[in-house]
Amino acid sequence: MEVNPVKCVNCGMVSAEGVRYAVWDTRFGIDQEYQIHACPSCGLEQTAPLPSQQELNGLYEQYYNFSGERNTRYTKLRAKFINSFLYRIWLTFDGDISFHQLRGTGKLLDVGCNEGRGLEFYQGHGFVAEGLELNSKAAEVARGKGFNVYGSTLEGFSTQNKYDVVVLSNVLEHSLNPGDMLLHIHRLLNPNGQVWISCPNSRSWLSSAFGRFWINWHVPFHVVHFSPDTLRELLKKSQFEVAEIRQETPALWVAHSIIARLFAKRGQPSSQLRSAPLVASLILLIRGLLFPFLWLGNLSDRGDCLVVVARKS
Ligand SMILES: [Zn+2]
Repeated sequence: MEVNPVKCVNCGMVSAEGVRYAVWDTRFGIDQEYQIHACPSCGLEQTAPLPSQQELNGLYEQYYNFSGERNTRYTKLRAKFINSFLYRIWLTFDGDISFHQLRGTGKLLDVGCNEGRGLEFYQGHGFVAEGLELNSKAAEVARGKGFNVYGSTLEGFSTQNKYDVVVLSNVLEHSLNPGDMLLHIHRLLNPNGQVWISCPNSRSWLSSAFGRFWINWHVPFHVVHFSPDTLRELLKKSQFEVAEIRQETPALWVAHSIIARLFAKRGQPSSQLRSAPLVASLILLIRGLLFPFLWLGNLSDRGDCLVVVARKS
């Protein structure tokens, strides 16, 4: 295995040591090997080699957003479920990793709001919700629902009226410079403003159990992999104080790790991840049978998803 030196985005140390796993993309079939490095100095884990922003933009364009996955059976069923009353009950059992249950008042910005699914929940729960979305087609769909959606990058975005809440729901781990991202959010927030973050926990028991097949390595799109400790440290450095940090383990993520373990082949897309009957039956089985393990994992700091509320300090 060729080891790629990587520069830590937290402490700046350049090192080729600390490789945890050699991994490849288990979703879309991008045929390249990457490594997961843990910085020997501060412990932050990163993908190596680090893709450039330009490479990432091309990959997102090709594989990620709206590349034909509209009105498929899977997306239609998912949309139907999320708009139903069942979804609210489900969140109570499965855990709310996208802040869809939180209520409050004030101005909220959802970074990477996509088609505005989250915006509908936030607005319905008392906030004046706006979004940032670079994908113009997704932004158009959200605007069609009546939301203010800006097509700007976070760095290029400024506003006279600051926000009370900024949401980063499964966004921070995609950033080539998460520290900078948090500093820009700091700038957009009111004095008592909060940032709500959810992201995968690289130290979850599922990352150990599934190894290179853990669905949340998600290389090369996930470039930083946070643990509770490294996320806390980054927040502190970016002038935020953690008000609450908890863990959840969505059954969907476990189902996806199982499917990747069973079916993923290097260089081939895993179509089973988008099979509605397979995913739905696995989710129900996992929630029904594995719930004590998921619950214990969450309590012992080894859940699959970190859910954080942090306040500007
Ligand atoms: Zn470091």
